Amino acid sequence: MLNNNDETRLDFIRSIVAEDLKTNKWDGRVVTRFPPEPNGYLHIGHAKSICLNFGIASEFGGRCHLRFDDTNPEKEEQEYVDSIIEDVRWLGWDWGEHLYYGSDYFKQMHEYAVQLIKKGKAYVCDLNAEQTREYRGTLTEPGKDSPYRNRSIEENLDLFERMKAGEFPDGSRTLRAKIDMAHPNLNMRDPVMYRILHAAHHRSGDTWCIYPMYDWAHGLEDSVERVTHSICTLEFENHRPLYDWFLDELGVYHPQQIEFARLNLSYTVMSKRRLLQLVREGLVSGWDDPRMPTLSGIRRRGYSPEAIREFCRRIGVNKFNSTVDIALLEHCLREDLNKTSARVMAVLRPLKVVIDNYPKGQVEELDAINNPEDESAGTRKVPFSRELYIEQEDFMEEPPKKFFRLAPGREVRLRYAYFITCTDVVKDENGNIVELHCTYDPATRGGDAPDGRKVKSTLHWVSAERAVEAEVRLYDHLFTKEDPDDVAEGEDFKSNLNPNSLEVLTSCKVEPSLAQAESPNRYQFERLGYFCVDLDSTGDKLVFNRTVGLRDTWAKVQQKLNK
Ligand code: ATP
Ligand code: MG
Repeated sequence: MLNNNDETRLDFIRSIVAEDLKTNKWDGRVVTRFPPEPNGYLHIGHAKSICLNFGIASEFGGRCHLRFDDTNPEKEEQEYVDSIIEDVRWLGWDWGEHLYYGSDYFKQMHEYAVQLIKKGKAYVCDLNAEQTREYRGTLTEPGKDSPYRNRSIEENLDLFERMKAGEFPDGSRTLRAKIDMAHPNLNMRDPVMYRILHAAHHRSGDTWCIYPMYDWAHGLEDSVERVTHSICTLEFENHRPLYDWFLDELGVYHPQQIEFARLNLSYTVMSKRRLLQLVREGLVSGWDDPRMPTLSGIRRRGYSPEAIREFCRRIGVNKFNSTVDIALLEHCLREDLNKTSARVMAVLRPLKVVIDNYPKGQVEELDAINNPEDESAGTRKVPFSRELYIEQEDFMEEPPKKFFRLAPGREVRLRYAYFITCTDVVKDENGNIVELHCTYDPATRGGDAPDGRKVKSTLHWVSAERAVEAEVRLYDHLFTKEDPDDVAEGEDFKSNLNPNSLEVLTSCKVEPSLAQAESPNRYQFERLGYFCVDLDSTGDKLVFNRTVGLRDTWAKVQQKLNK
C-alpha cells in the first residue's frame, strides 16, 4: 500500500498509520482531513498540516477531506472559504469530491445534543458568561455545580427547543455537558455545547440561532465523516478526553486523535488573529502582501509550491514545540528556484556607461545561457550597445583593497559580452557620479581574452537603448526580532515590525526579453537574487518582487557544522 519508497524512517504519525493498516484497525481505510476555520487566510503553519494530512492520504492510498470548520458565524466569511480552496489547490493537493462544511452537520449535531439531554448528560444553564467562568474554578480549585445542573430531562428538552426557536436573547442560556465540575481537566467541567447567537451564517443563513461550540462540533465532524486519523496540534491534547467523552456517550464512530507540534518560524507571527490585525490596521497591504507568511502572500512573493512542500518534508513532525529557522524555508526555496528559474540580467540602481570606442547606433545580439542548471533551457540573445547600465555599487572611484569590480583604469568583464576598461568618471554639480566612460576590447567578444589575460570580476549589465523600465520591490523580514513576542512591558508584537521591510526601486532597467513577462513568472536576476513578476504588473508597467536573495545562510551554517 505504501508507495513511498523513501528509506528514511517513518515519522511517528506515519508509523501509527502503517501499523493500523497492518492490524486492519480501520478495515484498511485511511481517512484524514484538513479542517480550517474560514476566519482568515491560510499561513505557512497550515501548510505543515496540509502536507501532513494530504501527504499521508496519498502515500497510504487513502483520502483527505477538506472540511471547513465553520461553526462561528461572527468571524467567518465566504472570502476566506474561497482563498483557502485556492491555497490548498495551489499547494498541489486534491480532495476530489470530499469537500465538506461543518455547518452542513448542524442538524445532526442538534440531534446528538437532544440525545445527550435525554440520557441526562446535558442541561440548559442560565448562568451568564461571567458567572460560568466564576463557577468553573481554577487549576488548583475545583469548580462549583451550576444551580441549573439538576433540571429535569423534560425541562431541559423544553428549554433547549425554545433556545433553538429563538425565544431567548443572546448569551442568556447555554446547553452544557454534565460531566464533573471538580474534574482536574478544566475542559471536562461541564463545557458549553451550544450558545445562543442571533447571527446569520455565511452558509446556513438564518436557519439557526443556536451555534455549537468548537469542542462539541469538532469531534462530531470527524465522526460523521468517518475519519480514521484525526490529526491536530498539541494544544488539543487536553481536549481529547472531552472529545472521547462526547463520542462514547453518544456511542458513535470514534476516530483516533493524534497530536503533533505546530510550526513556528523565526521572524514571523503565525496566528490568524494577529495577521488579521496587521491587515485591518493597514500595517501591510493585505492578506497577500508579499511580506506576509500567508500562503497567498508567499505565493505573490514568488515561492513555488514545490519549495513549500519540500520544506514541510524536511521539518518533519514531532511532539515538541520549537521554532524553525526561516533560513531553512529560504534554503528550500533557493534550491528549487536554482533548478527552475531562467537567468536574466537586470540593473536595480542604474549607472550609465558609455563605451567610447563602440560604434554609434550599432547593436549586437549576444548569446546568453538561460539556466546553467538545465541545459534544455537553451540560450537567448541579449542586445549590446554603446550605452549600457551597470549597478551603481559595481563601481568605486577609490576602491578599497578587496573591491575587485570596476574602478578608474581597471578592466572587468561584462557577462556574455566584452572586457571593458574605465577611462573617465562624469559627475554632477554635487559631486555625484552620473556616468562612466569606458573602452571595450573587441577581441574579447563572448567574455574571454584570446591572449589569456584575466580580470577579477564579471558584472551584469543592460543595454541602455533596449532596456525595459521596471519597478522592483525588495523585501526584508516583517519583524526585526527572531521572536516577535520579545517585547518591552506594555508593548505588543507590532512594536517589532521592521520599518525597512519594504524598499521600492522605481527606475530599474531589465533586459528586453522580459518585456512580456507575466505573473507569476520567476527569474534569477544574475548576481542579485530570485525575482518574480508581481500581480501589479500591467502591459505598461513591469513590477517585480524580490523573492529571495542569493546568499544562503542556511547552507553556510550546515557547511560549518559538517566540517
Ligand atoms: P491560528 O492559530 O493561525 O488561528 P488555527 O489553529 O486557529 O490557526 P485552524 O483554521 O483551526 O486555525 O487550523 C486548521 C488546521 O491547521 C488545524 O488542524 C490546525 O491544527 C492546523 N494548524 C494551524 N496552525 C498551525 C501551525 N502553525 N502548524 C501546524 N499546523 C497548524
Ligand atoms: Mg483553530
